[in-house]
Parts: sequence; structure tokens; C-alpha cells
Amino acid sequence: MHPPIDSKLPRVGTTIFTVMSRLAAEHGAINLSQGFPDFEPPARLTELADHHMRQRGGAGNQYAPMTGLPGLREAIAAKVAEYYGCRANPDSDITVASGGTEALFCAIQAIVRAGDEVILLDPAYDSYEPAITLAGGSAVHVPLLRPGFGVDWQRLQHAISPRTRLLVVNFPHNPSGATLSRGDLDTLAGLLRDTPVFVLADEVYEHMLFDGRSHHSLLSHAELAERSFVVSSFGKTYHATGWKVGYCVAPSALTQEFRKVHQFVQFVVATPLQAAIADFMREHPEHSRELPAFYQAKRDYFARLLGATRLRFEPAHSTYFQLVDYSAVSDLPDVEFARLLTTRHGVAAIPISVFSAEAVASERIVRFCFAKHEATLAAAAEKLRLL
Ligand code: PMP
Ligand code: GLN
Repeated sequence: MHPPIDSKLPRVGTTIFTVMSRLAAEHGAINLSQGFPDFEPPARLTELADHHMRQRGGAGNQYAPMTGLPGLREAIAAKVAEYYGCRANPDSDITVASGGTEALFCAIQAIVRAGDEVILLDPAYDSYEPAITLAGGSAVHVPLLRPGFGVDWQRLQHAISPRTRLLVVNFPHNPSGATLSRGDLDTLAGLLRDTPVFVLADEVYEHMLFDGRSHHSLLSHAELAERSFVVSSFGKTYHATGWKVGYCVAPSALTQEFRKVHQFVQFVVATPLQAAIADFMREHPEHSRELPAFYQAKRDYFARLLGATRLRFEPAHSTYFQLVDYSAVSDLPDVEFARLLTTRHGVAAIPISVFSAEAVASERIVRFCFAKHEATLAAAAEKLRLL
């Protein structure tokens, strides 16, 4: 018999991504729920990982430096300079982490104290709030506007209190694909100017914007960058979500606090994978430049197929997710509909209400991941046509 457990996360169950992927596997459904590609990373990238793993006589399979391999931090510095005009010092401002998730967790633990408030924009990725709770803080939820999932600046302003310590923003936005404009960054900077609020920017979909849109990273805005932790993930960019390699860019004083946590959560990230990504970034800088066209083609292909169903949607502006409104098909709440879609119709999706503290009661929307071979998308659409 163990002592009674007073759970630190009493309201947390198993993450929806695990729940839906498991359900898809149990029922042999086509899994468009959890976000991951069903195709391989670039062959050269896996070849490089293999190469670094087979190196003999070096330290290629031993602990990497706590902050990340210097070569990878330099490649990240070069990238954020090229894309966002941000001059991050690889030694003091960049830390390699075990995926975006670890970076998000460490940033939150580093900055949020007991009693602090953290503002989340709903729908919000599911890892933020448990991390805030574990830090002793509480989440304050501000819904994104419908339709379009833009920021409700007025509500955001009202949500800022003397206890607000951190604002978490996620653009390109999972699940909606909403993006921020340059003007939005200026508005945000104005809103935070005279406050002691830090920002955590989750930009893991930074290279997936469509129809000529560009990503306005918080790193591209000098004033916001001064108070921000900016997180990204190589899993998304290089079709290697299972590698769990990501990073955090933040001014040195913030990075110092970030690393105090990171060194006792993960300490270091898989050495050969870091080395492979560093080499690949240098050898193939065109990979991330070509990513928008690559995913836009998939979005368009899937959208054409969805056009023959009774699902309604606006083609996603970014990310590899497509939201669809199923109200013409069913009046079930989204969690039940996603379950039914998986078990009875053979296509797994993610209900989006689970990402909001207060779901919009009338909303009938689920999310599909289109980071899939065309054959997978076609097979799924075939089933969706029957709805
Ligand atoms: N943030 C968002 C918005 C995500 O969608 C994901 C993952 N899919 C992550 C963070 C986590 O990234 P990683 O897999 O690198 O931990
Ligand atoms: N971020 C991915 C998604 O939104 C899933 C990541 C996970 O399973 N934790 O689908």
C-alpha cells in the first residue's frame, strides 16, 4: 500500500494526442489526429545521424555540452539572423532542448513563481497549463476571436493584472493555422511596454506558412525579443518528430535562468542527432525555404479532396493542420464526434475543445493533420466523403 496521493495535477488526464493515436491504432483508422508526418526525414539527414553515431574514437556518442553542440547553436544563430534579423549569441542566448516541449517546460519553470498568473490564448497547446500548475502559477485564459482565431487585444489587455508574469503566444497557431502580422507584434509590444510581463513564443511551425504569408517571429521585433523566450522544434521542420530536438532563443539573462532548469530536467540532448542537424542545416539551407511550398501542395491536395465532402473549412493559412466544421454532418460535441469518426468511420481527428478552458458550446470543429502522403490523404478523404 502506498501513501495517499494528493495529485499535483488532479485535472490532468492522458494527452489527447496519445488518446487519439491509440484509438486510431486499436480501430485500424487512418490517423490524421496527432501531428506527425507519415513520410521520412530527408535521406541525407538520417545518413548524417548514422554517420555521427558510427564515429569511433571521438565523443560523438557521449554527453553533449549542456547548452547544446556549439556547431548546432551556431547554425541556429545563423538561421535566426538570416530569417529574422536577430543577433543571438550562440554561447549566451541559445540553448538546445529535447524538443519544443522541454523548452516550453523549462521556460515556464524558470520564470513562473508561486501565485503568478500566466495568460494563455485559447485554444492553447496542451502542455502549457500543466507546466504552469507545477510551477505554482495559475493560467488565465483569453479566447482567440472567431472566426479566424485572431488575438482579442482588448480582452488580452484586460487580462493583464499586477500578478501577470508571463504571456504565452503560439503563432503559427496550432490548431487553427492563424498567424501574426507585423502590426500585431507592434500592438503586442505596446501592450506590454510598461509591464513586467515576459513572453514565451511557441514558434514550432515557423517554416510552414502559405499563400505568400511570412512568419513574423518575436525575434524579428527588437522590443519584444528583449523580454521573450522563443521556442522552435526541428521535429517539425525536418519531418523528424521522434528525434525530439528543439531549442530556445532568449536574451542572456533569461537564458541563464532557462539553463538552470534545463540542466536538471534534460541536461543534454542526443549528441549524434544534434551533430546531424547542424551539418544538414549548413548543407541544405534550402530545406526550410522550400517547406512552405511543400506543405502548401499537401494542404491544397487535401482541400480539393475535402471539397467533395460535407465538411466545411477555410484552407489553413499555416501549420500542417486543417480545421473542418462538421456541423452539416453531426450535432455531436467534438470529443464524441472525433471518437465516432475514428471508431466507426475510420479516420482519426483531434477535437479542439480540449485546448480551451471554456469551449465555444456551438462550435463543431475537429483538426486533421495533412503531413501525410497523398495516398493517405486520398484514402482518408474517401471515407470522409461517406459522412
Ligand atoms: N508546441 C506546439 C504548438 C506543438 O504543436 C508541438 C508539437 N507538436 C510542440 C510545441 C512540441 O514540439 P516537440 O515535438 O518538438 O516537443
Ligand atoms: N504537437 C503535436 C500535435 O499537435 C503532437 C505532439 C504530441 O503528441 N505531444 O498534434
